[in-house]
Amino acid sequence: MACYRAAFLLTAISIAAPATAQQRREIPNRQSPAPSAGRWLRQLANDLDHLQEDLFFERGKYPEGLGAQVDQVSLAVAHLQRVRLQTTDQRHQLRDFQEMDRKVHQLVDTLEQFGDPWLRRQASRISYSDEQLHYALQRKIEMPRANPRELLARQSHLLENVARDLQQLDERVNQRDRRLGDAIQEFADRTEHFHEVVEKGADTEHLRGDFQEVDEAWHHVVERLNGSKYGYYLRAAAQNVDRVHNQVHEMVTPHGRVTEPAAPRNPPPRRRPAIEFEIPGVGRFQIPQ
Ligand SMILES: [Zn+2]
Ligand SMILES: [Zn+2]
Ligand SMILES: [Zn+2]
Repeated sequence: MACYRAAFLLTAISIAAPATAQQRREIPNRQSPAPSAGRWLRQLANDLDHLQEDLFFERGKYPEGLGAQVDQVSLAVAHLQRVRLQTTDQRHQLRDFQEMDRKVHQLVDTLEQFGDPWLRRQASRISYSDEQLHYALQRKIEMPRANPRELLARQSHLLENVARDLQQLDERVNQRDRRLGDAIQEFADRTEHFHEVVEKGADTEHLRGDFQEVDEAWHHVVERLNGSKYGYYLRAAAQNVDRVHNQVHEMVTPHGRVTEPAAPRNPPPRRRPAIEFEIPGVGRFQIPQ
């Protein structure tokens, strides 16, 4: 846990310049950065290294074969990283990605089988990186002909999962801020409804209406989170939710694409929720800035 927090701290500092309260501002309508497969492959490799390290120090408590299985996945990740540098042959990359992916999913299943909360956390961390990797690769190599609705279904499924993850985490770490807990629950319930509606194939108007409710609930969560004294850890976890929320947002209401003749040429910039961080001696800043 400690290393994860430290790692996030470094990333947070390097991507967000400290700002005083007066300097705080939002840059509306900023496009999310292009999803990067390389970044999520590195993250996945880190997740596996941390798992392996912790298994090593806890040796004896978990079945022996687990470490070897983690090694196999790490090798597959490293192999794909190398292949991506060596060839632009997308069929080759796809084959190695699918091979690696199969091992990742087997590992996640194994980790979940033990019923151990710590291993389940590791599983959900690894799954998150894997899902982001799918998101980065799907349009280019994984499912180039998939219809947008399939991609939306996958991402709204993920949004519901990370919302429930955040809810569970909040229940563990936060016993006093009931209103934050209620806001997270409301948000998670709406993501569940939204996911259902996407899977049932509702029309675009219905989807946008329902996503707007998800969006409003998420803004409430972020406001409560920023106003609460609870902790760095929960905010870092909320970052993961925010990323998926933004991905779904852009799928439901793509930027710069006029979908109906009557649509205004320049839609009003959308307000993105920004999660605030405070680092003693560094200052208070928000992400996205
Ligand atoms: Zn996968
Ligand atoms: Zn689904
Ligand atoms: Zn609905």
